[in-house]
Amino acid sequence: MPTILTKNPASGEPIQEIELTPPESLPEFFARARSAQKYWAAMSLRKRADYLLQLREALILRADELIDAISSENGKPQFEAMTNEIIASADLLTFFAKNSPKILADQRIPMQLMKHRRSDLNYWPLGVVAVIAPWNYPFLLPFADIIMALVAGNAVIFKPSEITPYIGLKIQEICNEAGLPPFVLQTVIGSGELGAAIIAQKPNKIFFTGSVATGKKVMEAAAKNLTPVNLELGGKDAMIVLPDADLDYATSAALWGSMSNSGQVCASVERILVHERIREPFVQLLKQKIQKLRQGPALTQKIDLGPITSDKQKAVYLAQIQEAKSKDVHFDIGGELSSDQRYLSPTLVSGPQIEATALYQEETFGPVAAITTFKSINEAIEKANHNRYGLLASIITKNISLAEEIARQLEVGTVTINEVVYTAGLGETPWGGVKDSGFGRTHSAMGLYEFVNVRHIHKPRISWLYFKSPWWFPYTPYQFVSFRLLLNLYRRSWIEKLKTFPHFLWNFLQFIKLEKRL
Ligand code: NAD
Repeated sequence: MPTILTKNPASGEPIQEIELTPPESLPEFFARARSAQKYWAAMSLRKRADYLLQLREALILRADELIDAISSENGKPQFEAMTNEIIASADLLTFFAKNSPKILADQRIPMQLMKHRRSDLNYWPLGVVAVIAPWNYPFLLPFADIIMALVAGNAVIFKPSEITPYIGLKIQEICNEAGLPPFVLQTVIGSGELGAAIIAQKPNKIFFTGSVATGKKVMEAAAKNLTPVNLELGGKDAMIVLPDADLDYATSAALWGSMSNSGQVCASVERILVHERIREPFVQLLKQKIQKLRQGPALTQKIDLGPITSDKQKAVYLAQIQEAKSKDVHFDIGGELSSDQRYLSPTLVSGPQIEATALYQEETFGPVAAITTFKSINEAIEKANHNRYGLLASIITKNISLAEEIARQLEVGTVTINEVVYTAGLGETPWGGVKDSGFGRTHSAMGLYEFVNVRHIHKPRISWLYFKSPWWFPYTPYQFVSFRLLLNLYRRSWIEKLKTFPHFLWNFLQFIKLEKRL
């Protein structure tokens, strides 16, 4: 059986040799998932929600081991593995255990005209869904989709990134440990080829998180079977720093926003738009703070930034840095690879040429931030929006009402005011993008609805109160006039409505009395 050897990106040391899932075995995975899903969906929502609490217990009991696994395989500092992945997962489990029964309960739609009838929305599971994940938040991202899928009554085929399969298997382990019925979650191991083979198996929906290029391939392949997709793609997020901002606060926000997880964050602050009046002190202070960041292997609690996780991504930003250097962009600090090639020094670039480079326009996904300036609020909004991505934007200012006004003009899925990045980990708020950052939402009630079909049930309000509808056959003159007059009852003016009503009523009664419905 072919295997994949997963390695610690800080040292290159092997972690585990993991068997690859042969693509030809996928039909068996899907068959098992389909039969497990029937049993799982028949369970009450409350009971499925209770499983999430068992899962939370299993997660907490094995937290230290999971933190070590995440830091070893992905390279992020243990503190980030704990907060951004494990605590955020416990919080998500709590939110969905508590709220899913309410969110997915039947909902009544108030009737406008047909007062004798009622409509309910009834949510039901999609079936077997595929979760295809990236490596940068190897635990939280797939786990969030998995728990939402499960509580909604679906079975899941989960493919972790080929860069972080060991963590993917840990997710499977804790789900097994929590007593989840067999085969409602199955983890398969492999690269993009396996991802494509999963799509060919016609899952009922694909929840894909990854790059724009792969997202397009996923959507194209899914279109062959009309399989719906949720796409959580890349970002090139802008932070707007207004002239009244507290510089210490603003630079600390920019520092964490751009450098946490070594910038390997879809919502990383990659573009910093600073008002020209405060550009100089802002850059100086941010530079000083960058100099104090400590890089190193993640399995110590005394580092801030880990190594580069993905060689593929390293090639992307090295090319961007090279291009920026060739265009005489000013490197305020950083831009150098360590001698072992495992770390890129935290990098800040600026200068008038910057906006014409890929480093400013395209996703970098590394510890790099590009600074540019603006003179007016309109210019800041225009510059922030002038990008193909639309995931998150942040605004730093003391003037919250002005920030809110700006927020409402930004073409993104989330705007954070005086905060950065972190809402991506909240259970109760929606996460997702616009433009090339994808579509669909995850987390929150809105995210949970992505995991269900909706069935509209329309019925008599009182069991015996139903009759042949006046628009049924045969079509007759009184019927025609009645409905034509009904249209006038939609007029804006109450005088027109009142003038019409007696005619309408008279015609309608004639129609009912004289013209029998077929
Ligand atoms: P990627 O697109 O290279 O891979 C993502 C996943 O897709 C992997 O599991 C991979 O094996 C699989 N895959 C590759 N080719 C496939 C195919 N043809 N069919 C099906 N699956 C296929 O992305 P990555 O490098 O793992 O992750 C980094 C990207 O993810 C960045 O662009 C980042 O912005 C994005 N991301 C977005 C969010 C978000 O919430 N919007 C969150 C995290 C990461």
